[in-house]
Amino acid sequence: MLQDCIFCKIVAGEIPAERVYEDDAHVAFVDIQPKAPVHFLVIPKAHSDRLDTFVHAEDDATVGRLVAAAVRTAEQNQLTDYRIGVNVGKAAGQEVFHTHVHVLGGWASGDDA
Ligand code: 5GP
Ligand code: ZN
Repeated sequence: MLQDCIFCKIVAGEIPAERVYEDDAHVAFVDIQPKAPVHFLVIPKAHSDRLDTFVHAEDDATVGRLVAAAVRTAEQNQLTDYRIGVNVGKAAGQEVFHTHVHVLGGWASGDDA
């Protein structure tokens, strides 16, 4: 755990979060400032500051498990259509430097149009 990392504190339970998925290596929780009707963040429990650092530090199977955890988070929370994205670096919009995957969804289906 990295001191002063807000997402490490969520993993440790020191900061409350509405958890929506968990496995041995990942936790997912509701984004505090949602940018879609449903907005989850999926994070590895172990700290790394950004996705490229994570990719360089871990084997590809571990990186793939993060994507799988994002899909399972969506599925276990009844999302069938969703967007998965990662901001890598400040200029790309990354504000929290603990690797995380955004899962956005919950829009109307559009089938009524
Ligand atoms: P980034 O811009 O780094 O890709 O995404 C960081 C996300 O973390 C933002 O969408 C922001 O709303 C969310 N966030 C920041 N602090 C907290 C927090 O303390 N709790 C939760 N649940 N989400 C947070
Ligand atoms: Zn961290």
